[in-house]
Amino acid sequence: MTHTTASHPRRRPGGPRSPRLSLKLAEPPVRQGLPPLVVTERQGPALRPNPLSQIVRGEVLGLNLSAHCGQECVFCFARAYPGQQAHDAFALYADTAKQIRTELSQRRRMPRAVYLCPSTDPFPPFVAAQVEACRAVQALAEFGVEPWIMTRGFIRPFALDVLERLGDMIRVTIPMTTLDNRLRRALEPLTAPPRLRLKQLRHLRELGIRTEAALEPLLPGLTDTRANLEPLLAALADAGVRHVTAGYLFLRHGIRENLLREYAGARGVIDAYETGPVLPMGTLAPAQHLPQRERQRGYGLLMTLAASRGIRVSISALSNPDFSSPSTGRLSPRGYYQKELACLR
Ligand code: SF4
Repeated sequence: MTHTTASHPRRRPGGPRSPRLSLKLAEPPVRQGLPPLVVTERQGPALRPNPLSQIVRGEVLGLNLSAHCGQECVFCFARAYPGQQAHDAFALYADTAKQIRTELSQRRRMPRAVYLCPSTDPFPPFVAAQVEACRAVQALAEFGVEPWIMTRGFIRPFALDVLERLGDMIRVTIPMTTLDNRLRRALEPLTAPPRLRLKQLRHLRELGIRTEAALEPLLPGLTDTRANLEPLLAALADAGVRHVTAGYLFLRHGIRENLLREYAGARGVIDAYETGPVLPMGTLAPAQHLPQRERQRGYGLLMTLAASRGIRVSISALSNPDFSSPSTGRLSPRGYYQKELACLR
């Protein structure tokens, strides 16, 4: 299926206004009806085990800065966890930086890195949340722990200044789904617009911060098409990107429900999974995946288009648990998987 922009309205009203791009990074659109921010006490430790430790060298912990994500992507697996749907405020955890310092000072051995964030975005459209994210990365850096950041959001200038000071201690991954801003608004309503994300990606690299792009998640018939990928890859190449990671959406009951409720074009995406395998995913719950043949076809197209732009593609190990080892000669996610941050949501 080839998508047209007019066919992807989001079900809920009140999408973000169109962005105004300028030479400076523009302010992100603010959706009417952004929920109020409340500060809440965290139950339990801030730094928690993370599945990245299974696929990268060294220990990687995860850190969420809020009780749920402020960006409401329709495909998000974290939003599909029980209890994540019903909230009428954005709940930011109190005193995260202080808790990080306490927890790290009690450890005999430091983790290699902390991933922000496994289930939430560290740079949602709330200033107080971005202030807290900055405090958290500074606290990690004090202990020599690398902050690994993944964000679909607009990183405000004051936060960029903090990241710049930490230099190559930081890693940032910016996931992209499309250049089509109408489609982005339908799929990722409170995230930064694609052109702004690209500008941000380029800017972060100019600041000397290790910054990668991820095509996450690929949605069959929607964002994995030649029509969607060609302009996106061209724009990434223009931004200086020479490597991307990629992985298809996987489905669980809650993800399927969210898609059907919030995205008018969901049925076409979900039908593609009908004969797909349900696979274990390590410490994460099993999920249904696109049939392997369809994933291989999609990755093949992506790699071909990317190669024509001088971009190398690594395939997500996490979202392709059934792919074989390099010795079989078939597509091997572990062989390609080098940029560890991608593919966790
Ligand atoms: S995909 Fe990321 S940014 Fe979007 S809702 Fe989930 S955690 Fe937030």
